[in-house]
Amino acid sequence: MEKIDFNCIFCAIAAKRAPAEIVYENDEAMAFLDINPITTGHTLVIPKKHSRNAFDIDDESGKAVIHASRVVSRALRAAFNADGLTILQSSERAGGQVVFHYHAHLAPRFVGDGLMSRSDTDRKMNWHSRQKISTEELAQVAEKIRAHIMDD
Ligand code: AMP
Ligand code: ZN
Repeated sequence: MEKIDFNCIFCAIAAKRAPAEIVYENDEAMAFLDINPITTGHTLVIPKKHSRNAFDIDDESGKAVIHASRVVSRALRAAFNADGLTILQSSERAGGQVVFHYHAHLAPRFVGDGLMSRSDTDRKMNWHSRQKISTEELAQVAEKIRAHIMDD
């Protein structure tokens, strides 16, 4: 890892200096549970090397994030019998970004979960975090995902 921002919470997680329920990692990328999940299994995928967002991530980190996202997507589907998945990446405040280390949200989706409504002319995303999830519940969710990780 060449670049660490010592004020960045996700750099601290990548360096294992801050706690997280890690479900997958390799040399360049890491996936861990979002502490305010919008659906069960909501996972964040980051490059270990600090980049701020989509405007400055390099190809190598981008490739690593895609690989980790692919591995974790399949594990999420298997672990929770998900019908689908939504991947979201927000860049800069105007784009909805709150944590300024590149991350992709992976949210398992279920038919009728109400997270997205769609008509011919309109698409609405109801992106509301669940208010509370205990550390025990997070640990159980992470364990389930880890059991289904197949890195190939
Ligand atoms: P964004 O709006 O795309 O920047 O989303 C930031 C996400 O990071 C939110 O969904 C938060 O719940 C999540 N988050 C913030 N701090 C942590 C943390 N320490 N561990 C896990 N997830 C976090
Ligand atoms: Zn960082």
